[in-house]
Amino acid sequence: MISLGIESTAHTFGVGIVTDKGKVLANVKDSYSTKTGGMIPVKMGEHHIEVCDRVLKEALEKAGIKQEDIDVISFSISPGIGHALRIGAVTARTLALKLKKPLVGVNHCIAHLEIGRMLFPECKDPVLLYVSGANTQVIAYDGGKYRIFGETLDNGAGNLLDSFARFTGLGFPGGPKIEELAKKGKKYIQLPYAVKGMDVSFGGLLTNLKNKYKTRKYKVEDLAFSLQETIFSMLVETAERAMAHCEKNELLLGGGVACNKRLQEMCRIMCQERDAKLYCPENQFLVDNGAMIAWTGLLMHKAGISIKVEDSAVRPYERTDDVLVSWRN
Ligand code: AMP
Ligand code: MG
Repeated sequence: MISLGIESTAHTFGVGIVTDKGKVLANVKDSYSTKTGGMIPVKMGEHHIEVCDRVLKEALEKAGIKQEDIDVISFSISPGIGHALRIGAVTARTLALKLKKPLVGVNHCIAHLEIGRMLFPECKDPVLLYVSGANTQVIAYDGGKYRIFGETLDNGAGNLLDSFARFTGLGFPGGPKIEELAKKGKKYIQLPYAVKGMDVSFGGLLTNLKNKYKTRKYKVEDLAFSLQETIFSMLVETAERAMAHCEKNELLLGGGVACNKRLQEMCRIMCQERDAKLYCPENQFLVDNGAMIAWTGLLMHKAGISIKVEDSAVRPYERTDDVLVSWRN
């Protein structure tokens, strides 16, 4: 069985093709980016309209299959930016109608967790630390749903890194630039550490950091280093608390920020200390990608879940725990 999945919750338009044996035949994407000004939703939608046809063709070519070989069509139905979500949805509906194949709407956050379980079959029941541009959540399965045990109360960690990088003229995306700069930082500068129960908050930290930068009293390398050490400690603390609370001993990483080697190292140390296992997918599966939508759609399809085209409106605000996870037991 072959599943095609379309990702379009935010800046990335991606098409993935996977088999029911968990083999990824293609995982192609094109991401919208700007040097200044941030993500403009309308422009993001226009970008996806421009690239959707080419990305789809490239994925089919890479997989060495024809449209007719596809058995299931999935798309990210939630959560995300409406302008972006709708383009993926239109592409998926068109294919489903044309090919007369079942259509499945997938929650993006859940897909980050399911692709990890596909890539690491021994990773059965992890706590997911999902850290991306817009999202920062600690998610685990409990009582038939993927529940959010902790999350950011304001910005996503990636948005924080991108905002500071823009402010200091490092450019976009900021995460990798800050990671490089942080390697040269030596001095830890105290920054607000805001963990509230299992939730985190970054707003005050960003203001504090910008104010410190403006005084010109601190080296930007030291600020980058301190920024990473502070926010990654917050993330590791909340992930560890969720693992202890849920009595789970597997940690899975997801989201673009999880590409960061220092965050991976800190997670590895925490896991070693509590005799748990860390699972970190390669970068192409950490960032937003079509393969994770294709795989989760396939799992849902096998459990009898599909959606009629006329009921397939996108759900920009759907929460991870709104979804009944009937494909797991
Ligand atoms: P996503 O929304 O999951 O596609 O991830 C995008 C976010 O990941 C952006 O905010 C990037 O700045 C961030 N990012 C990408 N690579 C890294 C890295 N090496 N370190 C920290 N953040 C990163
Ligand atoms: Mg994501």
